[in-house]
Order: sequence, then C-alpha cells, then structure tokens
Amino acid sequence: MRVTVVGSGYVGTTLAACLADAGHDVTAVDIDPDVVAAINDGRAAIHEPGLDDLLAEHAGDRLRATTEYDGVPDADVTFLAIGTPSNEDGSIDLGGLTAAAEMTGEALAGAGNGSSAGDGSGTSPDDRHLVVVKSTITPPGVERVREAFFEGAGDAADGVELATNPEFLREGTAVDDFRHPDKVVFGTDSEWATERLEALYEPLLAATDADAPVIRTDPETAVMIKYANNAFLASKISLANDLGNVCKRFGIDAYEVMDAVGLDDRIGAQFLRSGVGWGGSCFPKDVDAIRAAAREAGYEPALLDAAVAVNDGQPERMLELLDAHADVSGERVAVLGLAFKPGTDDVRNSRAIPVIEGLQARGADVVGYDPVATENIRERFPEVEYADSAAAALDGATAALVVTDWDEFAALDDAFDAMAGAATEGPVVIDGRRVIERREGLTYEGLTW
Ligand code: NAD
Repeated sequence: MRVTVVGSGYVGTTLAACLADAGHDVTAVDIDPDVVAAINDGRAAIHEPGLDDLLAEHAGDRLRATTEYDGVPDADVTFLAIGTPSNEDGSIDLGGLTAAAEMTGEALAGAGNGSSAGDGSGTSPDDRHLVVVKSTITPPGVERVREAFFEGAGDAADGVELATNPEFLREGTAVDDFRHPDKVVFGTDSEWATERLEALYEPLLAATDADAPVIRTDPETAVMIKYANNAFLASKISLANDLGNVCKRFGIDAYEVMDAVGLDDRIGAQFLRSGVGWGGSCFPKDVDAIRAAAREAGYEPALLDAAVAVNDGQPERMLELLDAHADVSGERVAVLGLAFKPGTDDVRNSRAIPVIEGLQARGADVVGYDPVATENIRERFPEVEYADSAAAALDGATAALVVTDWDEFAALDDAFDAMAGAATEGPVVIDGRRVIERREGLTYEGLTW
C-alpha cells in the first residue's frame, strides 16, 4: 500500500520505518527540515535502537521524507502521529494535531478529490482514502480532529473516513514493541476501514510472527483503551508507592511485600517497584488529559486524582528522608540520575526536576550526573554543576540522592568512600530506586524499604 505518515517523532518514524520494512511504500512528512533530512539520509533524528538500521535500508527506496503534504492524495492511508501535549490546566492540547489534520484535508482538496490518484501500477486496494489518528487523543478529541480534517478537505472529504489506531510502544524499545505488540487496536466506523487497516498490518505482523490480538471497535472506544491502559499502569505504580510509604512507616521492606503480592495472577509482577515515582512524556500528560476530559464531562475521577497526588508527593518524601539525616544548606549534594528512566536521554517530567528544586530550596550545592541526559537537563538547570561520572559527583558530597535506576549505580561501592558525609552520620545516601547495593559505612535510606 501507499502510506503517508504525518509527524516523524518517536512514534511516526518508527511507524514509517516498520511499514516500509513490511513492504509498503511510505512517505514520512514533518514540518522540521532537519528531521526530514535525517530520514532521507537513512538515520533517525531521535535515539531508538534498531531504527537507524531500518532507515538506512529503506530510505530512498520504499521510504522517503518531505516537509510537504503533496504525497497525501496518492496514498491509500494517511497516519497522523503528531504530539498531543498538555495545556496549562492539564487538558489535551490538540493544536498541532488539528493543524496537521486540516493540512491533510487541504492536500486532498488541492488534488481535486479525496480519492487515490494512483500511479497506474494497479496496487491500490481501491480509490478511497483512510485517515488514521495514531496520536493519543481523548474521546471528545476524535470529533475535533475529524472536524479539522473535514474543514480542510471540504468536498474532497467525500468517501474519506477517519479512524483511530492508538500506539502502545515504549521509548527505548520502540521498534521491537511496534513489531511485537501485546495488542493492536483499530477504531473505525466501517467494515471497509477495518479491512484496510487489517491489510496494512497483515504483512507487518506476519513478518515478525507477532501473534497479537486485534481489537476492532469504534474510534472513541479505541482511544479510551489507550488512556485506560496508561492510567492503569500509572495508578498501579502509585498504589505500589502508597503501600510502600505505609511499609516504610512500619519498618517493612516494600519490595519483599510486593514480590509476594505480584505472584497473584490477578495482579501480576510488573509495575510494583515502588520509589520516587513516574515521569516521562506519556504517563503524566495522559493521566492529566483523561482527568481533565472526565471533569469537563462532569465526572470527578477520584482514584486518578489520588494516583497523581501520590506521585507528586514521592520526591518530597525523598527530601524529608534527607532532612532527617542532614542539614544540606551550603553542602554539596549529588543527584545520581537525571533521565526519567534508564535507557533514555528524555528528561520530560523526570523526578530529578522536583528533587533538584527541593535541594535548591534547602540551599544545597547540587551536583548532577547522568550517563546520557545531562545536556537535556542543563537547559532547565543551567546553574547546576554536572559531573562526568557518578564517582566525580559523589566526591566531597555530604549526601547523594538516587533518582534513576541506571545499572551502573549498582556497582559504585568504593566511590562512596570519597564522600565528605554529614557531621554526625557520615555519607548519607537516599535511594529512590533501590539500585544501590552497598550499605556498610553509609547512612542509607530506601524510599519505601
Ligand atoms: P514527537 O513530539 O516525538 O513527534 C511529533 C513530530 O510531529 C515532530 O517531529 C514534529 O516536528 C512533527 N510535527 C508537528 N506538527 C506537524 C505538522 N503540522 N505537520 C507535520 N509534522 C508535524 O511525538 P511522539 O512522541 O512521536 O508522539 C506522537 C503521539 O504519539 C502523541 O500523541 C503521543 O502521546 C503518542 N504516543 C507516544 C509514545 C512515545 O513513547 N513517545 C508512545 C505511544 C503513543
């Protein structure tokens, strides 16, 4: 099939590369010329394992990138994979996505109709066009994107349908997740649109022997599945954190408790690691967006509100544990880990942000370290000192706060000996991720153990 993917970020580039690899003819569109140049050059503008290889193999052949929408009318399917960030009040900002939907409509209108012009090769399944929203949007957002598309397309919208196909991949394992999904969700208004999505995905899933269940539903239910999925995962961590905070009060190791709890099939072992909380580019904005949409519709989502409140409180609880052992005013304090999770340089909504702010409020002299995320956090905290290694960050520090569970932190053993330590308690280590193995000679506090 001929496919256009509008938006070439984490999701769009992965989608475009994997569809090309499955044999489709793909045009990637992005407004950023650097992103377009990189793809045409056979490399990704973002860091994702395996993505560069796919782009190098297919760029210039079954995959090309452009800043223009003029390939849209020749395509059988156009995906919209534009970011959907939060407004100030937490509600979803659909501005970028509706602009892209409108431009997609205008491109079809510019070609005179909503049908595939074809290239004479006879490979097109039929001459109708399907627009598929890949972005994460709220159920009321579906109608807003549809309206924007129809506004751009005018009469050319005849015969065109809008479907939703939410994405569940994770940054850091995007290609592998996309090729081996736990489920594929098609939100359509017609049998025709479902069949087109099935035909599009068929070679992709067949090539990797992925045996993913396909959920066929309407567009609004499909996008709600995505929000329910993320809201559940975020709440599961918050519940583990809430219970972990209770364990800490009783001097009980929350990990021993949750390892046992996770053996219950109804609960499952994943996402029970308590600590300093969730961050990143998806959970916070998605939980906020569905809470705001619920409120707009007259419902107060009490559990989701609580999940956010518990999460917001974890960095402060970490700082309170520090206060119990050391007055860090004027003292050097190391923050180990700045990325929102290991394996990425993404610092959006990283727990390191409130931790650094809390240390600064206490008058501490903060020194940060992360194997890959330093430059990204430097934009937010240019005044902070950044070390080249964890050992250098610890050198002379009164206390260390561990915020990201990078594997390398587990083996820091001797590096703690270079800490200055607090007046009466020696080196203070507050571990927010249960990653530090050494305990001897340290005043060590786990957040929930
Ligand atoms: P991103 O910010 O990495 O990429 C979006 C891209 O769209 C950017 O390259 C930007 O230049 C481009 N763009 C913006 N406006 C445009 C326009 N009018 N025309 C063409 N290109 C335009 O976003 P992302 O992380 O890929 O996320 C996209 C969507 O997928 C979001 O709704 C997100 O919630 C969802 N999602 C993301 C992930 C993830 O792990 N990143 C996982 C699942 C779902």
